[in-house]
Amino acid sequence: MPPFLPFARPVLDERAIADVVQVLRSGWITSGPKVLELESALSRELAGRPVRMMNHATAALQIALEACGIGPGDEVILPAMSFVASANVIVRVGARPVFVDVDLDTRNIDLDQVESAITPRTRAIMPVHFAGLPVEMDRLHALAQRRQLRVIEDAAHAIGSRLGSRPIGSFGDLCCFSFHANKNITTIEGGAIVGGSPEEVAAIERLRFHGILKRSPDEIEVQTASGKANLPDVNAAIGLVQLPHLAEFIEKRRHLADHYFDRFERQPLLRLPARGDEGHSWHLFAPLLPVRAHTLSRLAFINAMGARGIGVGVHYPAIHLFAAYRALGYRKGQFPNAERIGEETVTLPLFPQMSFEDVDRVYEATLDALAEVHA
Ligand SMILES: *Cc1c(COP(=O)(O)O)cnc(C)c1O
Repeated sequence: MPPFLPFARPVLDERAIADVVQVLRSGWITSGPKVLELESALSRELAGRPVRMMNHATAALQIALEACGIGPGDEVILPAMSFVASANVIVRVGARPVFVDVDLDTRNIDLDQVESAITPRTRAIMPVHFAGLPVEMDRLHALAQRRQLRVIEDAAHAIGSRLGSRPIGSFGDLCCFSFHANKNITTIEGGAIVGGSPEEVAAIERLRFHGILKRSPDEIEVQTASGKANLPDVNAAIGLVQLPHLAEFIEKRRHLADHYFDRFERQPLLRLPARGDEGHSWHLFAPLLPVRAHTLSRLAFINAMGARGIGVGVHYPAIHLFAAYRALGYRKGQFPNAERIGEETVTLPLFPQMSFEDVDRVYEATLDALAEVHA
């Protein structure tokens, strides 16, 4: 059998390895000059907006909420289908996550349903650019502005995504990126907050380091008892090597996704995701299986693909159906599209080192597996 094909794989070259070794030998291995360099490099890609690195996007999202003063008694609107971290951070700051259904094909929050989810307690909207397909931000910002709400983007999938000519993160309110190993570029673990007024950026810096405000070399003050979320220089060194490759990685992802569409377009069993345009960064390729029609089981499909040497992911179950969210009063049936995606979605392999032959192999294996597990 050919080698196992995972659904995601980072591209780390010899330059990244050499630069990590250099940091390890430098005597300064935690947050330092490499983090500052990476913040500047990202800022240059994002219209010069302020960028502050974090040790992961989960921390970035939580700190963004805290920097906006969101806490107990507040509500934050978000899609019912995303990685669970999007909602967990809202709970962690003591606020209530208010879910809105997603579109079945774009997988993004249904903007038609956002307005009716707003209450006097709503403080922010957290859109997720699912799989790297941008949410219609102009429409969302207009709504947020009209209702005086903050917009905290969960852009964990969307580094390198663009709306027209504008990169996600280069405009708007606060925007959080992830550089986890599976994302389009990586620092192994890592995240960033982009944007904020000078006061908010200062708050973000304090919140990522124990709440410490350095007054002078011999005096610090702590106004908020905060946690710790700074990124080590070892990780930043990897990001500095990854960033110049971002456009080329995304171009490769787009070509591979196009090839998947060419192959699967006439395959009636799968429902393909929205194709978007050139601004899509193709973090994931995740069609839906006909699970609801009871013609097959997803588990059987995943196992059948595994037996053919192909890794399949699930991104993601609907958040409101997890026990922690049922405990907040959420029930099955509230967000039908999110629930259907949660049951039917499968993520097929997509990463820059793949070849068109790999896509063909996934296509053939998918047809085979579907035939095998079909009831
Ligand atoms: C990966 C991811 C996160 C969390 O990112 P980390 O860097 O792993 O903390 C948050 N939201 C979404 C949608 C993600 O995919």
